[in-house]
Amino acid sequence: MKLDPIAVSKALAARGESLAAFDGRCILAGCVAPPSNTPGILGRRALPARRLARLGATPHFHHGLLGFICATGAAFFLVASAGALETSRSNAVSQRPSRPLRSNVACCESDSLAAGQPRQATTRPADDTDVHVLPVQGNVYMLVGGGGGNITVQAGDEGVLLVDTSVEQLSDNVLKAIRSVSTKPIRYIINTHVHADHVGGNAPIAKQGAMIEGGNMGQPYRGAAILAHENVLHRMSAPTGQQAPFPTEAWPTDTYFTKKKELFFNGEAILMLHQPSAHTDGDSIVFFRRSDVLSAGDLFVTTTYPVIDLERGGTIQGVIAALNNILDIAIPKDKQEGGTYVIPGHGRLSDEADVLEYRDMLTIIRDRIQDLVKKGSTLEQVQAARPTLDYDGRYGAAAGSWTTAKFIEAVYRNLAVKQTKSQ
Ligand SMILES: [Zn+2]
Repeated sequence: MKLDPIAVSKALAARGESLAAFDGRCILAGCVAPPSNTPGILGRRALPARRLARLGATPHFHHGLLGFICATGAAFFLVASAGALETSRSNAVSQRPSRPLRSNVACCESDSLAAGQPRQATTRPADDTDVHVLPVQGNVYMLVGGGGGNITVQAGDEGVLLVDTSVEQLSDNVLKAIRSVSTKPIRYIINTHVHADHVGGNAPIAKQGAMIEGGNMGQPYRGAAILAHENVLHRMSAPTGQQAPFPTEAWPTDTYFTKKKELFFNGEAILMLHQPSAHTDGDSIVFFRRSDVLSAGDLFVTTTYPVIDLERGGTIQGVIAALNNILDIAIPKDKQEGGTYVIPGHGRLSDEADVLEYRDMLTIIRDRIQDLVKKGSTLEQVQAARPTLDYDGRYGAAAGSWTTAKFIEAVYRNLAVKQTKSQ
């Protein structure tokens, strides 16, 4: 079934939107942009060219933005804005209901992706404390909002399990959101790492839960169990007599120091897999095997370059290795979006193609900086060479807590140390 580009164009124009591409050609008067083989942009998200080819689609740029077209001409996705996506969906995609379009998910992202412009550090108003629930698949939901880290909820007959708890001040709204999913007790909290935007709600949320115990154990602690890698406990606590960075009630109650920890809850195998020296030194990814959803913590985010917390044992090599481990686990649906879903630490719901693109980007930047380090460049020279330039429009930030300059510096420091050691 072929789309009528003129009709779609008119429908879009009525909404103040523009049609950018059809059948590989831009039909807008005056547009001279040729079809491009470089990665296309779908719903404000980059897709690797390889993935597009697998979908049988031709990527096409229109003035630096925009979508791709299926070889059949039967469907196309374009992204002048969320409004255009909606229009093209109602005009065109409704004819092919079997093709999932994750526009609702794509729209979670900020609108600040202007070609080549670094995104502003703050993408949502500071007073937005709403916590939204997104059903992912199987038993798993994603809680998003308020500027804290994303929370994963797994719910079933045995109760509720959370991955991370966001910032402390959101706890009331997080609990409300959890209650909209399940009224069963919160049994487990898994922490992906130590940062306050992921463990901040541990104490107030765990207090509302109840550990599973057998017999007359008479335990004084009655809240939910908190699980994490051992290094998370080390970082949250302090030796006797010293001030700990987090209150005792927020600390993990159960830790592991091996490669993985296994759990079976709500009829589902759950794997916690330690990713050494990556975002921090205590990162876990959490894989829900039956639901086929993976929580990546801050090893994968869709909003910025990865934060490499040098002070807490983070390294660029570790982040790339962790992304490769995620890619090993994730399996995409054949020629479609989805399959294994990946919940990032920050940003929108993703799948394997998103992680792959992010891994490729980091590998390219790592290699560029590595090359400069080998040539003996100083940090200033590396910064001046702008090794991230082509990705700054998507992930860069000039202000805020994690700027492009800080990211480059962290990668440089990792690689420069390695270089000195190997000499
Ligand atoms: Zn973090």
